[in-house]
Amino acid sequence: MSAPTYDKLTAPTTGTRVVLPTSKFPDDPIVCLLRGDGIGQDVDGVPGITTSAVRVLDAAVQKAYGGKRKINWFDVHAGDVARSMYYPEVKDEQVGKLSEEEQRKLYIPDDTLKAFEYYGLGLKGPLTTPIGGGFRSINVFLRFRFDLYSCVRPVKYYKGVDAPNRNASKVDMCIFRENTEDVYCGIEFKSGSDRAKKVIAFLRDMGYGPDVLLDSAGIGIKPISPERTKRLVRMALQYAVDKKCPSVTLCHKGNIMKFTEGAFKDWGYEIAKTEFRDHIVTEDEVYKDFGGKAPAGKIVVKDRIADSMFQQIQLRPDEYSVVATPNLNGDYLSDAVAALTGGIGLAAGANIGDKAAMFEATHGTAPKYTGKNMANPGAVLLSGVLLLEYLQWFEAADAVNKAVEKTFAESEEIAKSGSGKKLFVTYDIARQFPGYTDKDGASASGFADRVIVNL
Ligand code: NAP
Repeated sequence: MSAPTYDKLTAPTTGTRVVLPTSKFPDDPIVCLLRGDGIGQDVDGVPGITTSAVRVLDAAVQKAYGGKRKINWFDVHAGDVARSMYYPEVKDEQVGKLSEEEQRKLYIPDDTLKAFEYYGLGLKGPLTTPIGGGFRSINVFLRFRFDLYSCVRPVKYYKGVDAPNRNASKVDMCIFRENTEDVYCGIEFKSGSDRAKKVIAFLRDMGYGPDVLLDSAGIGIKPISPERTKRLVRMALQYAVDKKCPSVTLCHKGNIMKFTEGAFKDWGYEIAKTEFRDHIVTEDEVYKDFGGKAPAGKIVVKDRIADSMFQQIQLRPDEYSVVATPNLNGDYLSDAVAALTGGIGLAAGANIGDKAAMFEATHGTAPKYTGKNMANPGAVLLSGVLLLEYLQWFEAADAVNKAVEKTFAESEEIAKSGSGKKLFVTYDIARQFPGYTDKDGASASGFADRVIVNL
């Protein structure tokens, strides 16, 4: 594939393109950077959260490798920022009249698609959800276009953060949510529409009477295939092997949806037993063959029904490490686990496929904080840590993790020593300490400065 030409972008003149899949990364990879809208963007010289996060990531890489390694960031654009750059003449009231493809170009210009397709790696701040209706979501578009089939959400507790659940300190999980199937495929037919009527007539033919299916029903289809399940579960299992995690849980609703969610569970076990046999033991085997205690060094593969899983993560979160789950369960579950530990400003994520990977904060653009240097850069920063781990730059990733932990812990100590002192954490964390308000928090760049000191 030859290097693309761009309308408004200038590719970095230094750095090496990463061609995925690979297990050998260059020391100077080029990574696309989408700073994002709202709190993601820099405004009149005031840094947004992405700029603050990137500063920490660069400092960690410099500290860990003394100049031998460096990420070459390639600024590309999406969301409102892209629209104002590429199509400033298009007014809000005109957007709804454009075709879906034209709307897509407003919010993800071809330049950005070409750059991401060529370079394969990206770090992304939050983006405004497009207006207009035809083109619904930049994130969903990117997932399908680049087959970013696994949404990876690590969640752990940071000491010093006031979490709503008293078991929060036991949370250390990574959720792998399937990104390309399930009810997210958009195969839906509106109640009363011709297409809904056609599908209902077909289902009547198959023997489903009005006792289970009314003529007036809207219809949604839930496809789940062996290929797409297995590649997701494979990625989760490989992560557990690489990180020496104690378990992988297949979270499903197979007691009700046997041929979709139930099949997800069965295909998950199949991959575990055929491709990871030396590394794993199933929970059944633990009880049947090992007297209820997993052999040392083996990953326990188990499954839980989704409703029970939502109880388990609150009551016994330490029994869960890696979780693999279909799209809709994963959507709910990853937010629920993140909420347990407090702080939406800390929810990191990545969307990973075989040929591309986009690392991104899971929160939105929090528009009221735009240009105020207040919002927590933690989620973008921790998404950047996932990027470092993906590049196998574990020393730099570990340094950031430890420095963030230290920054929270020292703020907790300061807060405990009396009220009214200046903390190193941003407003959203500061206001959680007794006797403290959002005014006692550090600026976003001040938090980043402190994390850099703590590296
Ligand atoms: P939001 O931007 O996530 O903000 C909701 C609230 O969450 C904020 O007002 C703030 O709470 C808190 N918050 C979010 N990020 C924070 C951070 N980094 N630091 C501290 N606090 C943070 O949700 P929204 O207002 O519903 O959505 C705004 C826009 O973002 C919409 O266009 C939405 O579609 C879009 N969105 C994008 C993504 C994405 O790109 N991945 C995800 C979700 C939403 P307080 O007011 O209590 O301080």
